[in-house]
Amino acid sequence: MLNFEFQNPTKIIFGRDQISKIATEIPQGAKVMMLYGGGSIKANGIYEQVTKALEGFEVVEFGGIPANPEYDILLEALRIIKAEKIDFMLAVGGGSVIDGVKFLSAAALFEGAEPWDILKNSIRTFRGLPFGTVLTIPATGSEMNSGAVITRKTTQEKLSMGGPGLFPIFSIIDPQVITSIPKRQLANGITDAFTHVLEQYMTYPTQAFLQDRFAESIMQTLIEIAPRVMDNPADYEAAANFMWSCTMALNGLIQKGVPTDWSVHAIGHELTALFGIDHARTLAVIVPSHYRFNFDAKKEKLAQYGKRVWGLAEGDTDAVAKAAIEKTEAFFHSLEIDTALSAYTDQFEGTAEKIEQRFQERGWLGLGEHKKLAPADVAKIVTMSY
Ligand code: NAP
Ligand code: FE
Repeated sequence: MLNFEFQNPTKIIFGRDQISKIATEIPQGAKVMMLYGGGSIKANGIYEQVTKALEGFEVVEFGGIPANPEYDILLEALRIIKAEKIDFMLAVGGGSVIDGVKFLSAAALFEGAEPWDILKNSIRTFRGLPFGTVLTIPATGSEMNSGAVITRKTTQEKLSMGGPGLFPIFSIIDPQVITSIPKRQLANGITDAFTHVLEQYMTYPTQAFLQDRFAESIMQTLIEIAPRVMDNPADYEAAANFMWSCTMALNGLIQKGVPTDWSVHAIGHELTALFGIDHARTLAVIVPSHYRFNFDAKKEKLAQYGKRVWGLAEGDTDAVAKAAIEKTEAFFHSLEIDTALSAYTDQFEGTAEKIEQRFQERGWLGLGEHKKLAPADVAKIVTMSY
C-alpha cells in the first residue's frame, strides 16, 4: 500500500426530506448566491423546497449553468458574486452546477487576471469561497470531493481543476430527487460512477486488499441496483443505494494508498469538448478500448475484477480478463449506452490525431497510473473506439 493522507471535511446529510436542513448549515447572516442549471429544479419541486429553506437569508439567484459548465457563463456569475459581495454559494444541481460553483469558489478569491489560468496552469486551490450543495442527480461524486471539470466552448477545451479548498461545506442527498431524472441521465449516472471506480481500481496489481474490496462492492452494488433504478426511479431503496454508491465512488476513500489511472476521463473529456457527447457516454466509448490496449499491464486486475465482480469462473487469466471487458461493455449496452464513437458522430475520422496533438501540446506525455501512456498510445485507443 502506498503512503497516504486522508481528510474529507464535507458533511453529508442523507435521506428523505432533508433539503430543509440547508437553513441550519449556512452561516447566519450570510449573503447567499443560489446557483442552478437549465431549469429541471423548477419542474420537479426542488426549487420550491430550496427557496423555502432559504427564507430569512438574503439570496441572489443565478440559473442557467449548462451541462458541462461553460466558462463564459460562469464569468457572468463571478461578476455578480464580486459586485454583490456574496459570501456563501449554494449549488442546486448535478456535477455540472456543483463543478461550476467550485470554479467560482476558486475564482472569487483568485488574484490573477485571467481565471482560466486556474485550469490551464493547474493551479490548486487551498482556500475558496465557501459553498454547500443540494445534489439533484447521482453520478459524479462532486458533492463530496474537491475536483471540478470546466468547459470552454470558444476553444473547445474541457479541463480539470481542484484543491483542498474546494470541498463543499455540506451536501444534501435526498434520494427522492431522482424520480424526475430522464432515463438517459440515470444511465449516465450509473456509467460515470462505475467508471470512477474502474479508474481507481484497474491499476497494476496492488497490495491494497481493503481498497480493492471497497471498489468491488461499489461496482457490485451499481450492477445490482441498475435495473431497478432504470425500471422505477421512485423505488426509494434502489435510489438511496444508487446515490450513496455514486458519492462513495469518488469521495477520495477508495483511491487512498493505491495508484490511480484516470486516462479514460482525460480522453473522454476531449470527446465532450470536440463533439458535445455526454460525459458518461464518452467514458463508455473509451473504457473497452483502453483495457484492450493495456491488456498485458492490467490483465491480472481485470481477471480479479471478472471473478469477484462478475462472478466469472476461475480459469486462465487471459480468458477471464477478456471476458471481464466484455461483461463491462455489455453492462453499458444494458443501459442503452453505445460504446463506439461512430454511434455518436459521423465526424469521427481524424479524432485520434487531433487528441494526440492536443496532449502533445499540453505536455501530457504520460497518462495512467505509471505515466506510460504516450499521446501516440492515446491515438491508438481512440482509433480502436471508432
Ligand atoms: P449534469 O450535467 O449536472 O446534469 C445533466 C442533466 O440532468 C441536466 O440537463 C440537468 O438539468 C438534468 N437533471 C439534473 N438533476 C435532475 C433531476 N433531479 N430531474 C431531472 N433532470 C435533472 O450531470 P452530471 O452527470 O451530474 O454532471 C456531469 C458533469 O460533471 C460533466 O461536466 C462532467 O465532466 C463532470 N464530472 C465531474 C466530476 C467531479 O468529480 N467533479 C466527476 C465526473 C464528472 P438542469 O440543467 O436543468 O439541472
Ligand atoms: Fe466522471
